[in-house]
Amino acid sequence: MSRPVNCAVCGGRHHELMFIGRDRLFGIEGEFPVVRCQNCGLVFINPRPELEELAAYYPQEDYDLYNKAAGLKDRSMDELERLLWPRRALIEKYRQPGRLLDVGFGDGSWLYYMRESGWDVAGVDFNEKMVELVGGELGIDARAGQLEDAGFDDDSFDVVTLWGVLEHVQDPAGTIAEIDRITGEGALLVAYTQNAASLEARFLDEDWFIYEIPRHLFSFTPDNLARLLSAGGFCVSETQFESPLYYCQMNWQYLKQRRLGMDGDVVHRPSLLDRAIVKAMDNYRRALTGRSWSAAMTAYAVKRLPARQGAGGAEGDGAEAQDAG
Ligand SMILES: [Zn+2]
Repeated sequence: MSRPVNCAVCGGRHHELMFIGRDRLFGIEGEFPVVRCQNCGLVFINPRPELEELAAYYPQEDYDLYNKAAGLKDRSMDELERLLWPRRALIEKYRQPGRLLDVGFGDGSWLYYMRESGWDVAGVDFNEKMVELVGGELGIDARAGQLEDAGFDDDSFDVVTLWGVLEHVQDPAGTIAEIDRITGEGALLVAYTQNAASLEARFLDEDWFIYEIPRHLFSFTPDNLARLLSAGGFCVSETQFESPLYYCQMNWQYLKQRRLGMDGDVVHRPSLLDRAIVKAMDNYRRALTGRSWSAAMTAYAVKRLPARQGAGGAEGDGAEAQDAG
């Protein structure tokens, strides 16, 4: 069952229809109207499909993911370090190694890497098989289901990370409220998500790969993401911007499919034309990295101090772009 909803950030009831979305990644049938809030610019599926309906759009078995998790202990820390160190470095700018929760931990590599780097880690994920693997083989406190149902104690964590999670959850404000409950004073919330204010989103419209209908229920902008976090008690201190190469490949795939009627697998079996186009997009992507028009963003938000102590200096400088080099 789908139900009409108001904007999940500002509660606004006025929105414009952008396009009718379909599952272009797996090609599963179904139509999903995608709207933009006229007040805050949040892009969302409306009416919103509920969990039971969405289950059909998530593949049941992902062997690639299983193999990655099962092989984690054999992966070199050097490789993980190279991939994940920039994220850890930013987090450790705010917090010394302490208690970290990863919501939607996927293959578990982030949890594993952070534990090996001195953090006390826990995770929650929908995929029960992954919970078994990461919990059993790596001995990490891994729980199945939604964060709200995981039952973590009050004040359990110093840092909560959400890599590509907020766009999937039914109730982003509810997720932030739960994070508020389970974190202590001055906790850091880190949220990576796609940027609906990016140039790619504007130019590609419904061919923007990362609208990822219907698995992504929301696409945030830096402003409305900061507003959502702020309403939940977390003040955005900085936002990092990037445009992943994979987005370029998939953007071209969707563009040529729908606008030019051309098939072919750009990621795994690129033609000469594909290579040339992706190369051009890659140059553009690199030039954009660190700028607020990039396709993806990571917000670093600090739990606000109680009002009495928080006055003055608690506000960050908003969505300041940082050059990730
Ligand atoms: Zn809104």
